[in-house]
Amino acid sequence: MPKKVKAAVMYPGRMETRSFDYPEMKEGEMIVKMHISGVCGSDKHQFDGHLQVDFPVIPGHENVGEVRETTPSASEKMEVHGERLQEGDRILWYPDISCGACYYCRFLGTWHSAQCEHPFTYGYVNCEREEFRPWIFGGWSEHVLLRPGTRVWKIPDEMSDEVAVLLDTMASTRAIARAQMTYPNEKEGFGYGDTVVIQGAGPVGIMAAVRAKVLGADKVIMIGAPDWRLKMAEEFGVDQTISIETFRSPEDRIAEIKKMTKGIGADLVADCTGIPSAFSEAVEMARKSGYVVEIGAYTDYGPIPFNPWRLVDRDLTVIGQFYCPPMQYETDLKLLRNTMDRFPYETMLTHKVPLAKAEEAISAHRALRSMKAAITPR
Ligand SMILES: [Zn+2]
Ligand SMILES: [Zn+2]
Repeated sequence: MPKKVKAAVMYPGRMETRSFDYPEMKEGEMIVKMHISGVCGSDKHQFDGHLQVDFPVIPGHENVGEVRETTPSASEKMEVHGERLQEGDRILWYPDISCGACYYCRFLGTWHSAQCEHPFTYGYVNCEREEFRPWIFGGWSEHVLLRPGTRVWKIPDEMSDEVAVLLDTMASTRAIARAQMTYPNEKEGFGYGDTVVIQGAGPVGIMAAVRAKVLGADKVIMIGAPDWRLKMAEEFGVDQTISIETFRSPEDRIAEIKKMTKGIGADLVADCTGIPSAFSEAVEMARKSGYVVEIGAYTDYGPIPFNPWRLVDRDLTVIGQFYCPPMQYETDLKLLRNTMDRFPYETMLTHKVPLAKAEEAISAHRALRSMKAAITPR
């Protein structure tokens, strides 16, 4: 076994490559050799100091690797289907271990809830404090130690690491599925044949478009920039695009959506931007009695002006979404596997960066040079 584990450590506004001791496992634990770990929008917010994080941390919650070493009960219990895990198995895991004791764990169930008040979250664990020894709990690392209670999935043989690492991004668009109702023919909720507007042409926007298409959307319109991202979105089934570099004002964009929808507006609008003003725009783009889904606001913007009358006047339903429950990983692993031939998922991974250069991946994300970036051990 190696003596040391190299990892990318994040401080507010900077990264540092550090070396940790290769840990001794306790019963119930498992050590993963990392293959690849995604760079999420939340990692950038964290780097910029816009998310409350107990720095320093080894980031990385979108993780794919292989079992390097395991203990008997980890082999027996960690895989969600009860499959035995052994050395060399390719796996991914849900980033939260639920506490089991808070209101949400007790009443919504540890299996269902993403709302646990005291989760242990891979990629957000302080890597200096004694209570978190041996500290290698983020995927931007050569190895990660998995604690008991981690929910692990075996990756299907036919699925590459590059597709598997997108699972978390896909799962983070679950609110579109939440907007489905039992009777879409009555035009309540999102249903087959509907028109969907996606604001934002990043990885979340693309996955939202894929989900909308898979759930039966007739037309998906994407608003975003730069042009290469919109072009890529078309490869994922987006039917029409609106560039914010051409349609520069909210009024122009709203008018264009109205034009594309015979003056009615979209059945569902999903904000996947991370830009505060997008929400007000979404409300104007939805048809009366339509749905607005907020996925993109992944950091606290502070107060922004909004006129609640617009929700009443337009009779809208708004769905907010905090991350995803663990079972979304089960659903969406199948979704990815079953649609690998239809959508060119691997092309989304435009940047693979070794952990020593993790900061470059964050810069590429910030400058919109990357679609999805990911960190590899070397
Ligand atoms: Zn993420
Ligand atoms: Zn809890």
